[in-house]
This record gives sequence, structure tokens and C-alpha cells, in this order.
Amino acid sequence: MDFELSDTQALVRDTTRDFVQKRLMPVAAELDQKERFPAAELKALAELGLMGVNIPEELGGAAAGVVAYSLAMTEVARGCASTAVTMAVTNMVGEVIAAFGSEEQRSKYVPKLTSGEYVAGSFALSEPEAGSDPGSMRTTARRDGDSFVLDGPKQWITSGAYAGVFVVWARTGEQSAGTRAISCFLVEGGTAGLRIGKHEDKMGIRASNTVALSFENVRIPASALLGELNGGFKIAMMALDGGRIGIASQAIGIATAALEEATAYAKDRRQFGRPIGDFQGIQWQLADCKTELEAARVLVLRAAWLKENGRPFAKEAAMAKLYASEASNRIVDRCLQVHGGYGYVKEFPIERHYRDARVTRIYEGTSEVQRVVIARQVTSAK
Ligand SMILES: Cc1cc2nc3c(=O)[nH]c(=O)nc-3n(C[C@H](O)[C@H](O)[C@H](O)COP(=O)(O)OP(=O)(O)OC[C@H]3O[C@@H](n4cnc5c(N)ncnc54)[C@H](O)[C@@H]3O)c2cc1C
Repeated sequence: MDFELSDTQALVRDTTRDFVQKRLMPVAAELDQKERFPAAELKALAELGLMGVNIPEELGGAAAGVVAYSLAMTEVARGCASTAVTMAVTNMVGEVIAAFGSEEQRSKYVPKLTSGEYVAGSFALSEPEAGSDPGSMRTTARRDGDSFVLDGPKQWITSGAYAGVFVVWARTGEQSAGTRAISCFLVEGGTAGLRIGKHEDKMGIRASNTVALSFENVRIPASALLGELNGGFKIAMMALDGGRIGIASQAIGIATAALEEATAYAKDRRQFGRPIGDFQGIQWQLADCKTELEAARVLVLRAAWLKENGRPFAKEAAMAKLYASEASNRIVDRCLQVHGGYGYVKEFPIERHYRDARVTRIYEGTSEVQRVVIARQVTSAK
């Protein structure tokens, strides 16, 4: 057993940390307050190889592996959770195309994602009436000669107003066929009939872009099918297994920042003639935060290691996402409490971390859905 990072992993972590401290932390509050999409920052991340951390070099990726990806995501989220989720979805889209795409699809789209030529990629699975249960989706893809024609709504699509390419799921058979009649397609940004709908006014991760989409008679070539006809649901589930490692890492990054700030505040803030960090009531809160943070980190890195080594990792990724997101929420709450009234105003970053952490329990499968995934594996284990 080896808890040491490899040279590559340490290099990715340190390079990302350096970038985040110099470029992202100074602008994170402004990005949040103005809801400014971090286009320039994302481009810079692409130049560092962070838009394809686990993507082969021949497709422009860094080929640094899943553990390095998790470490990089944690560092970026420590600086700006909005930038981190945008990076996570773009990495996920690149990985999906690299894993399931034809040679033509891989060479056409993945280098544009990894190089930053496309500022982002989008993952369009959820619909207004199909969230935790994407198998009930209603968006359809009808075969018409050499084309497919897509119709229907998508909801909550990260980077939807900016994406160069969308991975889109649609029904290619009867509704009654459920998950066996869902296929996956690649749709380029700006395709006729792809309408960008409502921009969501979110509680947190406000610099990330979240929109509704409407597919209105969107005609794409038959070659835009990703993977096999009616084989799309499996692709979505596999992508989400990996995506959960990214969101768990994001949750750890947010909690890391919160704990650093609460620790510094506790040393600085004086009440009753001494720093509040001298009180055991505060010390125990910080101790609990640190313990939960490190437990989350071990779970996430283990899931990342399993994926990197080609082992089954779905249960471990779900456990990591469940625990890290819920621990992150407990940690930001305690860290806000340590700040007292100053934690409740925008003067200190903890207010943003508190809002940003909340969504990690919701997207890429809610906490309840993670429990369903874990329980299914536990109860079916021989
Ligand atoms: C900011 C943001 C960004 C997002 N980005 C994307 C994106 O890029 N692409 C994309 O496709 N989607 C995206 N999503 C969608 C996200 O994945 C869904 O919101 C999530 O899967 C939950 O679906 P829902 O919101 O419809 O809630 P619902 O599924 O309606 O759930 C409502 C409640 O019921 C619970 N529930 C549902 N089923 C069960 C069950 N079987 N057992 C117990 N409890 C259950 C849920 O846990 C939840 O508490 C994003 C969401 C947000 C908020």
C-alpha cells in the first residue's frame, strides 16, 4: 500500500495550485458577484493541460490519470467552485468522446476541448421531467435518411450557452422501452434549431453557466451517433460514475478553502481577551472539520485510483461523492459559524463557499441517488 503521490501527480497538483493562487483566487469573488463566465481562466487551464487531464496525449490530453485529475479539481475548486464545475464537465465530455467515439469523432472534437479552442463542452442528460430518473426522458431522435432529427427539452445544462460540443441523450424507440431505447449523440454548438433557453439564477456556483435547452427539429448527420444505437444509457451511467469523482473532488476543494479560512480567522479574531481559537469549543469544530475532510480525501483518491487502474469503481465513486459532498456541507457550515456574524456577509469568502458547497449534494446524482447506487451494490454482493 502506497499513499505517496507519483512525480506526475505531485506536479499536476502543484502547478494547478500555483495557477489557482495567482490567477483564480484573486478574481473568484468578482466572478461570483458578477456571474461572469470564466472564459479567460478556462483557456488558461486548457493551456496547462487541465481540460484533458485523463485524456490520451494523441488527443491533446495530459494523460496524467484519474488521481491527478482529482487533485487538480480539488485545487481549482479551492479557488473557484464555478470554474471547477465547468472544468469537470468539459473533462467528462472529452473523456466520453475519447472512450466511446469513432476515430473521426475523437479526432474532430477532443483536441478542441483539450486545447481550449472550445471554451467548454456540455453534458445534456437531464430534462425538466427527468432528473434522478433520466431513463424517463422524452427528448427524441428520429432517423430520417442520412440524418437524425432531435426534438425536446433539456434542463440544467452546465456551460450550455458556451459549449462547442454537446453530448446529448435522446429516445430512439418507444417510451415503454425505457433505458433500452436511449441513444447518445454529438451536437455542435450553434446547430440550427438548438435553442438556448432560460439562464438559471443560482444560489451558488454563480459564475458557471446553467441553462435550459430546447431541441427544435435539430438535424444532425447519422455519423453524430456516439456509440451504438440504443446503447446510450450505459454511456451516461459510466460517464456519471467517473463524473462523481470530479464532483467529490470539487466538494473537497471547497471545504479545504473554508477550513483554511476558518483556521486563520480563529487565530486572528479575539473575544474575552484572547483569540477565539484558544477556546476548546472552536478547536473541536476545527478538529472535526479536518478529520472529515481527510476521510473524504481518502475515499475520493481511492475511487480515482480504482478507475485509473481499470478496476470496478462505481460503488466507491458513489460513496466518495456522497460522503465528500455531505462532509463538505457540514464543514462549510461549521466554518461559517467560526466566523460569527462576519461569516454571514460577503466580506469574507466563507459566505460564497457555503453557497457553492450546497449543489454538490444535488448534481451528478443527489445524495439519495448515491445511496440507491451503493445499496444496490451492497445488497447484490455475493
Ligand atoms: C447547478 C446545476 C447544474 C447541473 N448540471 C447538469 C448538467 O450539466 N447536465 C445534466 O444533464 N444535468 C445537470 N444538472 C441536473 C442534476 O443532475 C439534477 O438536478 C439531479 O440529477 C436531480 O434531478 P432533479 O433536479 O430533477 O430532482 P428530482 O429527481 O426531481 O429529485 C427531487 C428529490 O427527490 C429525491 N429522489 C428522487 N428519486 C429518489 C429515489 N429513488 N429515492 C429517494 N429519493 C429520491 C431526490 O434525491 C431529490 O431530493 C444540474 C443541476 C444543477 C442544480
